[in-house]
Amino acid sequence: MKSGYKMLMELEEVNEAVVKVSFGDDLKSTWNAIWRLQVPNRIKLLLWRARSDSLPTKVNLAKRKLLIENTCTQCNQGPEDRLHALWACLLLSTIWQVLFPDLVSISSSSGSFLNVIQLAQQNKMRFDLFTWMVSLI
Ligand SMILES: [Zn+2]
Repeated sequence: MKSGYKMLMELEEVNEAVVKVSFGDDLKSTWNAIWRLQVPNRIKLLLWRARSDSLPTKVNLAKRKLLIENTCTQCNQGPEDRLHALWACLLLSTIWQVLFPDLVSISSSSGSFLNVIQLAQQNKMRFDLFTWMVSLI
C-alpha cells in the first residue's frame, strides 16, 4: 500500500507534467496556484475535472447519449454545461453575488468556467474559499 506522502508526490509529478503540456502561461500559473492551495486534494481534482470538462454535467451526459435533455433542471434557463453548473446558474447567482461580488462583476462576460477560475486567482480574491465553494455546489 502506498503511503499518502508517496501518492502526493506522484500526483505532484503528474501535475507538473500535465501543466507543461496543457497550459499556456496564464493557465499554468492558475493551475500552480490551485495546486499550492491548502485545500483537500478532492477539491483540486474537482477543479481539474472542470478544466478538462469531464464533470458529469447534463451537456456531457447528453453528448454520451446518457440523457436526451441537457437543460438545467434547477433554473430551466439553458444547457447545464460546466460554466452553468458551477457558476452561471440562476440558483447560484445569489451565493456568488454575496461571497464574490467583485468576481461576479468582472466575470460577467466570461464565456468559460476556466476564465472565472483565472479571474478569481489573478485578482487575489479568497481563492481558497472560492475553490471550497465550487466543491460544495
Ligand atoms: Zn441553472
